[in-house]
Amino acid sequence: MNLSEKTLRTMEELTQLFGVSGQENEVRTYLANRYKEYGFEVIYDTLGSVFAVKKSKKENAKTILLAGHMDEVGFVVRDVTSTGCLSLTAIGGWWNQTLLGQRVLVKNRAGKTFKGVIGSIPPHLLSEADRAKPMEIKNMLVDIGAKDKEEAESWGILPGDGIVVEGPFVLMEGGKRLLAKAWDNRYGCIMGLEVLDALKDVDLDVDLVVGATVQEEVGLRGATTAGYLVDPDVAIVFDCSPANDTNGKKDEFGQLGSGPLVRFIDANYLPHRGFLNHYIDVLEENKLPYQYYQSMGGTDAGAFHKAFEGVLTLTMCICARNIHTNSSIIDQDDFLNARTAAIAMVKSLTPEKIETLKTSNR
Ligand SMILES: [Zn+2]
Repeated sequence: MNLSEKTLRTMEELTQLFGVSGQENEVRTYLANRYKEYGFEVIYDTLGSVFAVKKSKKENAKTILLAGHMDEVGFVVRDVTSTGCLSLTAIGGWWNQTLLGQRVLVKNRAGKTFKGVIGSIPPHLLSEADRAKPMEIKNMLVDIGAKDKEEAESWGILPGDGIVVEGPFVLMEGGKRLLAKAWDNRYGCIMGLEVLDALKDVDLDVDLVVGATVQEEVGLRGATTAGYLVDPDVAIVFDCSPANDTNGKKDEFGQLGSGPLVRFIDANYLPHRGFLNHYIDVLEENKLPYQYYQSMGGTDAGAFHKAFEGVLTLTMCICARNIHTNSSIIDQDDFLNARTAAIAMVKSLTPEKIETLKTSNR
């Protein structure tokens, strides 16, 4: 099976939107429009997280929340220099070695975008010591073509304006691997749309709330507020985790193309054991490949599971190469298997099953 043209188009559109943490409005508007096309009510938290609500015909139904995060790592303008360049403050985690010479987009407060590049010094002009180490982000400058500070400011560029690194969408040779910026985590936004599409006409005994949070990359902030907005019985997080497979070591966590991840520990969340076991049962019943995964990072699950008196929470992630760069790669089969798992998971979560899981730590 291959991805449909429609899914590929959604992938291209969503990965290319500008959505540095705190400035996610392009992604939010896109998702809200898609949810409205399906006819679902759309709800927001004050930080900007957005969700479609698919109500059950049953009254007082339990609520399942499916969420990705719409923000991506990027930068904001720290200062406009006298030479018309922009110094940077990182938003989310970057390794400085991935940045010099990269094309960027800068967006001013009126919403106008400017093309630019992170300046780089040619190697023969660098001392041997400087050449041997990555430049610190605080020393990098974005050139947007302005001749001086006055010109840049006349274009409406000010401290705090957002910056993302460009990374076009490419279906790679072989037809299986998809290269783009921001798979972390437009993947989760797309997965939500795909599950909604598959279940839009299915009568469920639960309310299904599907959408995307903001500001995950700076500390799960949208998930914190969205947890209170939705007050779910179950929260399922879609996200991308780092693949560690290009060295050929099969015992490393995160083998691209080897199936959805069963994340059994990460830095801010320990899965509910009953729910994790149920996830493995769903994967087995659907004859899907899967792989165990442990992470020193975290996901929105870290916030959702602590809302109110605690929420039954699960991560349903896939792995991606080169995350937190503008050139991340996912595998089509992982995507399709994760989608099958997500749809089957929602269908498996009957009110009785949710109640059993919710009360199993008593
Ligand atoms: Zn993420």
